[in-house]
Amino acid sequence: MLAFVALTSSAFAASPAASPNVLPAESRGVTQAPLPQPINWDKVTQEATDLLSKYIQMNTTNPPGNEIAAARMLKEKFLTDGIPATTWEPQHGRGIVAARLRGIGKHNKSIILLSHMDVVPANPKEWEQPPFSGTVKDGKIWGRGAIDDKGPGVIELMAMLAIKRAGILLNRDVLFVATGDEEEGGKNGAGWFVDHESNVFSDAGFLLNEGGGIRALTDNKRKAYVVSITEKTPLWLKLTASGPAGHASDPPAETAVTRLVRALNKLSEYKTPIHVIGPVQDYYHSMAELDHGPRQQLDLAAALKDPEYQNKFLSDPSQNARVRDTITPTVLSASQKTNVISETAYAEIDCRLLPGSDPKTVMSDIRKAIGDDTVKIDVILNFPPISSPSRSALMTAIDSLGRMRDQASVVPSLVIGFTDSHYFRQKKIVSYGFIPIEVLPAEGKGVHGINEHIGVKELADGIQRMVQLLKIFGGQ
Ligand SMILES: [Zn+2]
Repeated sequence: MLAFVALTSSAFAASPAASPNVLPAESRGVTQAPLPQPINWDKVTQEATDLLSKYIQMNTTNPPGNEIAAARMLKEKFLTDGIPATTWEPQHGRGIVAARLRGIGKHNKSIILLSHMDVVPANPKEWEQPPFSGTVKDGKIWGRGAIDDKGPGVIELMAMLAIKRAGILLNRDVLFVATGDEEEGGKNGAGWFVDHESNVFSDAGFLLNEGGGIRALTDNKRKAYVVSITEKTPLWLKLTASGPAGHASDPPAETAVTRLVRALNKLSEYKTPIHVIGPVQDYYHSMAELDHGPRQQLDLAAALKDPEYQNKFLSDPSQNARVRDTITPTVLSASQKTNVISETAYAEIDCRLLPGSDPKTVMSDIRKAIGDDTVKIDVILNFPPISSPSRSALMTAIDSLGRMRDQASVVPSLVIGFTDSHYFRQKKIVSYGFIPIEVLPAEGKGVHGINEHIGVKELADGIQRMVQLLKIFGGQ
């Protein structure tokens, strides 16, 4: 590693603490002629493995997040290689880090490689390896965040370091951005960054984030590059029912709790309409064609008109979620004591809307379904649904990578969850969910589950593909 540092120390090794404006594009420095060096992939893989292990050991469980230490570690990693990097602390202990690998194409829009540093909680009792150990064993790196989303962050970071060290000059800048708070909606992460520091990425036109990846087709030989171009949006609601408070030995006919239970019951009986949006129709069509899937999926919208097929299709929860808005009660609360009747009872409802669904219409449908005006409905979280175009220079580059590296086709898709991409789509940045790794089914189960891990080989392949993708997109 020392040899690499010596090779690449350059005019860009400025201290961002001393000059906080090193990141914006305007401060572009003098470009030197490249001295292309071969990339030592074994070394890159070892370094990436060590970095991911260390990164996992930094407990960034959200809440509370505490991402700032991880942000500083990633910043140091960039600075050591002479790539300018800066951290922000939007709230005490929270963290964001960004770094800019400069290219030579002054007129080309830069690309953001986005990831998040925070992770969801993990209960050590349920895990084979302690979730914050970063254990490297049997060719796998174990721990919370290995796939969601520290592994992808390491792939993006190491790809930038590999390009810098090899002296490859791209014709556009590459920006690394790792945020906090994604798992809680991103208000203190990407949301804050987009609102307060948009000058850092004012030259960006493209973005890659979590939300898609490489999938093996059922013949286990061919692969598909699944690229998400849009997401469902959350409409989180709080339902509050009221009634007389009192002692449960002397109960009135109707209480806040009985009212709330009736409302929830009506809501669970209410079925949202089925709607096959363009990207979902296209996704099933492409997968059916590529993977010799059921012929009905060649035209899903038409097939779903058949009640028998519809029942079968909707019985899979993730398929159900792709073709309709979902309404899911998750939080319930009323009295804390068995013999006390509470004046209020409330429930939180996690609604997920397809792009194109109007939140106002959905709320009025919910009101109608409940049929009780005394139950108050408040919005906790909502943001506008925005999609990215399925054709762009970045999609063409992903398609080229797929064909060259894996004989794979690109399949655009919809993410049924939501990621930080919407914050950047709102800024008109073409944002795709695509990390070039093949997440195996067993690994996929670890995301927000137990025993999350990533293969060292998958990590290494991910970095190599990311370097290749940036070279294609950067005109090399
Ligand atoms: Zn994630």
